[in-house]
Amino acid sequence: MSEEGHIHPISQIISNTEAIFREMGFAVASGPEMETEYYNFDALNIPTHHPARDMWDTFWIKPENARKLLRTHTSPVQVRYAETHKPPIRIIVPGKTFRHEATDATHEAQFFQLEGLMIEEDVTLANLKFVLTNYFEKLFDTQTNIRFRPSFFPFVEPGVEIDMSCFKCDGSGKDCNTCRGTGWIEIMGAGMVHPKVLQAMKIDPNKYKGFAFGGGVDRIAMIKYGIDDIRSFYSGDLRVINQF
Ligand SMILES: [Zn+2]
Repeated sequence: MSEEGHIHPISQIISNTEAIFREMGFAVASGPEMETEYYNFDALNIPTHHPARDMWDTFWIKPENARKLLRTHTSPVQVRYAETHKPPIRIIVPGKTFRHEATDATHEAQFFQLEGLMIEEDVTLANLKFVLTNYFEKLFDTQTNIRFRPSFFPFVEPGVEIDMSCFKCDGSGKDCNTCRGTGWIEIMGAGMVHPKVLQAMKIDPNKYKGFAFGGGVDRIAMIKYGIDDIRSFYSGDLRVINQF
């Protein structure tokens, strides 16, 4: 057996993702993993006591009155980036995120998220559809369709869930475990950036529009490589890792 190392599947997905988005003119941005309450929640239209905060089980840093936390998503980087860059903005943000929750086959307390943001004068959901279709086709090396379903996230309006047609069965659903016979795979959340978030970015919502999307890199890797337990990526079990 070879003892030579190789790139971890999560790192491979991130590296491929960066290459695909760079071709479409997106820059790769990053930000701190220990965040303030302001960037993680308030600036994203999730004020204190907003019920949507319950969507994110949060690791708070002691002392709690310092109001610092381990970021629950990569979205704070949107606001940080917009504070130092003027539109047009095209970025993706791959990075580590943290949730205070029990682990199981589809949940880890630490995982990787991929965030995207595009802000220009005339951006619509049609642009989002083009960008993500191109991304999934290159990443999964196949033709694909995507569809939007209405959803809610406080930082976008309207919000959508994004499904991609199943790359294993070409969307037929026939005898397919990957999509459980539906022909579609739930892959990301997205939407048009909420005017309040644009204001927090000091961008005029009457002049500029933007889309944002976000999803789990671990989930994308699980789908692409047919892995059914997210913990496999972090266990260090060579029997798993050596398959890639
Ligand atoms: Zn399928």
